[in-house]
Amino acid sequence: MMFDASTKYGILGMARSGIAAAYKIKELGGNAFLSEVQWKDKIPAAKELIKNFDCEFGGHTDRLLDCDVLIVSPGIPLDLPIILKARQKGIELISEIEFGFRIKAPDSTVIAVTGSNGKSTTASMIHHILEGMGKKSILAGNIGDAFCSFPIHKPGIEYIVLEISSFQLDLIQSFAPHVAVLLNITPDHLNRYPNFEAYSLSKMRIFSAQQPEDYAIIHRDSIEITRNAGAICSQKLDFSIESAEAAAFLDDKFISIDGHKLSIYELQIMGPHNILNSMAALLAIKALQLDLKNAMKACKSFKALPHRLEYVDSINGVMFYNDSKATNCDSVRSALESFDKPIRVILGGSNKGEDFSVLTNALQKHATKAYITGETQDLMRQAWLGKLPLHFEDDFKECIRAALDDAAMGDNIVLSPACASFDHFLNFEHRGETFKAIVKELKREKE
Ligand code: ADP
Repeated sequence: MMFDASTKYGILGMARSGIAAAYKIKELGGNAFLSEVQWKDKIPAAKELIKNFDCEFGGHTDRLLDCDVLIVSPGIPLDLPIILKARQKGIELISEIEFGFRIKAPDSTVIAVTGSNGKSTTASMIHHILEGMGKKSILAGNIGDAFCSFPIHKPGIEYIVLEISSFQLDLIQSFAPHVAVLLNITPDHLNRYPNFEAYSLSKMRIFSAQQPEDYAIIHRDSIEITRNAGAICSQKLDFSIESAEAAAFLDDKFISIDGHKLSIYELQIMGPHNILNSMAALLAIKALQLDLKNAMKACKSFKALPHRLEYVDSINGVMFYNDSKATNCDSVRSALESFDKPIRVILGGSNKGEDFSVLTNALQKHATKAYITGETQDLMRQAWLGKLPLHFEDDFKECIRAALDDAAMGDNIVLSPACASFDHFLNFEHRGETFKAIVKELKREKE
């Protein structure tokens, strides 16, 4: 463990990961100065934090420049004036994931999962398989609780499965997971990165500190990944639904790894993207030298997480699915490809700078009609007008009702927005829960 209690830590952002890092520093006998752009009344944990730490609210002052190391929350843009000043002064800038990795006990093995889509699903599946095989595993990072909120500095945790966003990868140096999974790289968060190339390279950083004895699990069907894979120095294990040459491949309707087979009909999660996620999860288990037969057995009991193509209910034979977590175009494409007949899809929300026309072909092929709501209505109209049947509706409930009014028995209505939710909701969970509540209301009205 590398921890020096005399180091002066500054924490930018009093959100989940920043708070967890602060308490970990305190637990290890060090000191942290916390800085938050919002005022005290907007920070639920403010009272407790003030009791425990030196804090500032309502902006980041030059006091941060007295620190030796700044732990920067993932939500903070890296072109903020205070960050530029800190860089100029040579202050070390790291993410909470990097800090956690530095102080974790050496006996735990880290499995890190990143990608544009499928991180939560795949990380949860790896954790589910490990637990199913009787191993001691924790699931942390972007999903659930922050890495540093667990007793990671103490021995005894066998496996740490981390879901990692590209924002956290922007500020890593020594972070070297024994198993690093990169699921896919498709456009997202283009409002944060100067261009797609920069976003793409930030994802590849998950491999940058790995050693030859570590493993890189990569998606062979992704040109974006394979064209950059030459820089990876750990052992590569690839997965594919297109090539039988990959370490995990599709043999007819079976996932096949080292002669072990798992029927895709035995998976409880739907769609081709979830076959890929399952392959990646199983390759992580292979990299850990654990038994694949048992792992495949454990895989079968893994269920869809809420808000990821989650079945909600049916109204007069019309099925509803909540895919509120689909906040970019590629996740919507995967939803469209997951049903055996065209769907009625509800789209729209707050804009992240993506080009919606990339979805035109998939919508024409897999959607009977798109029901569009939220702030992106005009952009979506420009992208798809005249290309497929569209319905526009400002009100979320009326939008869902319109889809139901058009639907016949056996139809599927899927909320898969291709957008963030901040125009009308607190977050994607709030949007998904609202969707589910409206479906229940409509059911009461109609049945
Ligand atoms: P993340 O944590 O990366 O956001 P999730 O597992 O929460 O990923 O899934 C987010 C959205 O992306 C959901 O709509 C889900 O159906 C879709 N999705 C999941 N895995 C993939 C994949 N491998 N490729 C494309 N879309 C995916």
